[in-house]
Amino acid sequence: MAQVGQQAKSAPFKVYTQRDLDRIEQLSRLSPEARFEMRVVSSVLPFRVNQYVIDELIDWKHVPEDPIFQLTFPQRGMLAPAHYDRVAALLRGGADKDEIARAVDEIRQELNPHPADQMEMNMPRDEEGHRLDGIQHKYRETVLFFPSQGQTCHSYCTFCFRWAQFVGDKELRIASSEAAVLHNYLRTHPEVTDVLFTGGDPMVMKTAHLKSYIEPLLAPEFDHIRTLRIGTKALTFWPQRFVSAEDADKLINLFEAVVESGKQLAIMAHYNHWKELDTEVAQAAIRRVRGTGAMIRAQGPLIAHINDDPAVWARLWQKEVELGIVPYYMFVERDTGARNYFEVPLVRAWEIYREAMQSVSGLARTARGPSMSASPGKVEIQGVTEVAGEKVIALRFIQGRNPDWVQRPFFAKYDDQATWLDHLRPAFGEEKWFWEDEYATIREDKLAN
Ligand code: SF4
Repeated sequence: MAQVGQQAKSAPFKVYTQRDLDRIEQLSRLSPEARFEMRVVSSVLPFRVNQYVIDELIDWKHVPEDPIFQLTFPQRGMLAPAHYDRVAALLRGGADKDEIARAVDEIRQELNPHPADQMEMNMPRDEEGHRLDGIQHKYRETVLFFPSQGQTCHSYCTFCFRWAQFVGDKELRIASSEAAVLHNYLRTHPEVTDVLFTGGDPMVMKTAHLKSYIEPLLAPEFDHIRTLRIGTKALTFWPQRFVSAEDADKLINLFEAVVESGKQLAIMAHYNHWKELDTEVAQAAIRRVRGTGAMIRAQGPLIAHINDDPAVWARLWQKEVELGIVPYYMFVERDTGARNYFEVPLVRAWEIYREAMQSVSGLARTARGPSMSASPGKVEIQGVTEVAGEKVIALRFIQGRNPDWVQRPFFAKYDDQATWLDHLRPAFGEEKWFWEDEYATIREDKLAN
């Protein structure tokens, strides 16, 4: 096992939620107004942060600009002024709990809680037509599974596109406690090669739970499953999970068993900033995970106030490569939750990507992006160019609801304000995208079933 400092090994996991804002010592240096703003915003959007993030990752001398503070603590601008004023007035006026809850519910519904038709289009059904909760199957080869014990995180990202998972509304949750549901589904879907365990963060689960999902997949009947992926931000928010948690050794044994079975184990690590990679315990966790033979791939969205700077991405990718992590994706912030605060126009996103790419060595140029996980598929912004005198944005599908769309370039009219696919219009006077009619048919079919 990799050596880690005694302090990191013995740190207890201590978490704070909205109720505990006043107990976070470092917040006492902020004004009462700033603390009230946090209370208002965290009444609508989920808030959760742990002591390690507060003590080791945030530089309190640079609050509120500090990127990890922005990543975890609510800011006034995350709510539209009308939403903010409504909740603030209720809190100031001492409204009762039910009244606040009603207002908060209404506001959440206006924040597009399930972007890209996740609820309607990606959830498969069994032969009797019952929706298989906890499973999403959007692309042919890959199934996403949301284990019910993994629907929280060690801290919450303020920009999280899965924020609706955390606000306690059952209708808004996607989860399954049934390993059998997953295994039965995969048994009957030989076209699936990859399973992604996601959440929340599956790494909040006890190893025993994770094992009950993963171990059966190592049996010969699941030979068609070649890769197990685990989406996690625990390497940032609680790296102790891999080195000093009570069942960390068992977790490492489970990872080793997957690798020994001949399958690829890919840890899809969510990183936003190089600061997340700087602590001793974060690096020890990376070494330990890599020691099992698992591959760590890094992905994360481009977010205003946190990492909308080419120098930040260049340093992040370079640092990842030094630590043996493969830079994999730069995402575009999704059209949900506090997106107005965090979004970066697509053209600017591409400029940041390009400038960052130009300043790192070849090994760090493996990240795709900027990529939008939109309902028709994952669409990458390839660049801005001019074709026959028209300024255009070149795009391509990295993944598509129809595999035939993948890697076909297409072009949008230049628009330096657009922040999502549905803001763009086809270039060259075309009325529709090449995939538009087919997508409409696929969508209709899915919604009708
Ligand atoms: S770790 Fe992932 S799922 Fe959890 S809050 Fe952050 S973005 Fe959301």
